[in-house]
Amino acid sequence: MKQTPQCRGSVHDDFGVGFHQCMSKASVTRNGKPYCKLHDPLRVEKRTEARHRKWQQEWTAKAETQRKAENARKSTECKARIGAELAKAVLVCFGFVTADGPTRIGATKEEVLALLALAREFQKQGGG
Ligand SMILES: [Zn+2]
Repeated sequence: MKQTPQCRGSVHDDFGVGFHQCMSKASVTRNGKPYCKLHDPLRVEKRTEARHRKWQQEWTAKAETQRKAENARKSTECKARIGAELAKAVLVCFGFVTADGPTRIGATKEEVLALLALAREFQKQGGG
């Protein structure tokens, strides 16, 4: 009667300092060596590939999240800058201040605040 061979796979010993041979009975033979299902090199390779695929997907997802966050940050900065420039342009356009500086020409405080509120509204509408 032929005895079922023992798996040639190695497992960590109980002390975590070395390896010993797997105690399981072999169920497949690869390159002439017996292995259990857990240590079958083909299955080990598939598990490794699956793990790498998962890491790759996680990295890709993380990079995508970072890219979106960076785009959102740039967008917010851009809108803030546009909003400030728009407010200034409107004030200049209506003759409330000169392009050179904050010299007041004729706007009331309420008018300036109303225009700044409009500029802020513009910033918000572009927000995401
Ligand atoms: Zn084994």
